[in-house]
Amino acid sequence: MTLLFLYFSANAYGWKILSGTLSSSSVFGVMPLSDPFAVLQMIFAGAVLSFDVILGAMIIVFFYGVIGGRAFCSWVCPVNMVTDGANWLRRKLYMDQIEKKVWISRDIRYYMIVLALIVSSISGMAAFEIISPITILNRGVIFGFGAGAGLLIAIFLFDLFVLRNGWCGHICPLGGVHAMIGKYSLLRVKHNSENCTLCMKCKDICPERQVLNMIGKRSEVVSMAACTNCGRCVDVCDDDALGFHIRNYLNL
Ligand code: SF4
Ligand code: SF4
Repeated sequence: MTLLFLYFSANAYGWKILSGTLSSSSVFGVMPLSDPFAVLQMIFAGAVLSFDVILGAMIIVFFYGVIGGRAFCSWVCPVNMVTDGANWLRRKLYMDQIEKKVWISRDIRYYMIVLALIVSSISGMAAFEIISPITILNRGVIFGFGAGAGLLIAIFLFDLFVLRNGWCGHICPLGGVHAMIGKYSLLRVKHNSENCTLCMKCKDICPERQVLNMIGKRSEVVSMAACTNCGRCVDVCDDDALGFHIRNYLNL
């Protein structure tokens, strides 16, 4: 929300703290930031990119790759407001208890990356950026919403009625890109099995519950790329069995 407010303020009040959009922005008008997936699509589309755009993408890759993991998804992406709203309503309506047997692979997000790059190279345009709900919501908050709001409503309904964390946890190609970028990042959740009482609150709240496959088995760092570093498991664990940890590559 803070970042969206800063983007909005740049347009509404001329503030320079953070201007542009999540695809391409600058901090204080000096430091460029670019979405690496958008940049990759532009390269496949045949665009000639400025040094600033490439530098901006390198800054983002460095930050999430070295430090933050998939923190973009949980702490920055504005679509969280839509999907968290759907999850909240699912819990209120007890939808999870009567969950239908809908299953789709979480790897679809990686196929979506490939598809976006193929379509970009054929069309000469950054294909996912045209339909991206992230871009639609980001631009909507800054400049006002148009027909693209329908896609956000569709994601809300999909996550509410069809599949828990359906968009972010299964389909979004930007989530897949950030999973690959942040797979070896330093900041990770670590499980301490000695303190664990097997209450399973962490698995209930986790948007990527498959990453907590060590619960009930062993003490281990959550190393799977899909973990979003959201910290929800840490918040709900009353037994101090989960906490953020700087990964030691010599002794995980
Ligand atoms: S919330 Fe904590 S105590 Fe409960 S299962 Fe998860 S790690 Fe164990
Ligand atoms: S709840 Fe914990 S394990 Fe699950 S995605 Fe968030 S930080 Fe990772």
